[in-house]
Amino acid sequence: MEQTGISAAVYAFCFVYGACIFSFLNVVIYRLPRHLPFWKGRSKCTTCGHVLGAADMIPVFGWLLLRGRCRYCGARFSGRYAAVELLGGVLGCLVCQKYGLTLDALTAFAFLAVLTAAAFVDWDTMEIPNGFVLAAALTGCVSLIVGMEPAWPSRLAGVFCVSVPMLILACLIAGAFGGGDIKLAAACGLMLGWRLELLAVFLAILGGGGYGIYLLLTGKAKRDSHFAFGPFLSLGMGAALLWGEPVLAWYLSLLR
Ligand SMILES: [Zn+2]
Repeated sequence: MEQTGISAAVYAFCFVYGACIFSFLNVVIYRLPRHLPFWKGRSKCTTCGHVLGAADMIPVFGWLLLRGRCRYCGARFSGRYAAVELLGGVLGCLVCQKYGLTLDALTAFAFLAVLTAAAFVDWDTMEIPNGFVLAAALTGCVSLIVGMEPAWPSRLAGVFCVSVPMLILACLIAGAFGGGDIKLAAACGLMLGWRLELLAVFLAILGGGGYGIYLLLTGKAKRDSHFAFGPFLSLGMGAALLWGEPVLAWYLSLLR
């Protein structure tokens, strides 16, 4: 049982690391759609403009300690900041569980971070900036270079197997998918390969469809209103990366 202590410390490290990276991701999610540079300038309270100190920016715990309020003016910070940091910590642990402390883990974590940022920006603005598409494609290239599965023919097929049908649907039905969704799906195919890409889009349609039905049933949306599909796409892609292989193996075993 000597391993337990070590792995607990490793998980703690991965949690803190993930939460810190996603704390920066919060800044990107907030600033990018507002065309503010996210690489410079201290974080400020959006209500009183006071520059936030290091103690205010401790991921998750800073928010809990101050009970989600600005130390200086008492304005409420959205719980979403802390939730995104928590998600980063959990994803850090999940990636470590799957890949160990390897380059593969770092690459997978970068991919999940890009997906998270794309999901929240799309949720806020109904748009997926091209930068996220490029970043997702870049993590796909890096994963190939560091020798992660799958091999390149599967990845090449992954680029087109979902994006092309989406493009055709978007041409046939106006507003079926946004251009950003299609580009993001293509970029993710480079990371996942065609099998996980198909699973991912199946999960995304399941999630997005369920959410659409929920909106219709609760009267929060009309039949012709649109909602961002990017969050569901990102969720599907992330889930496929983390758990896709065992799910596919289970599914294929049913067919035998
Ligand atoms: Zn304030």
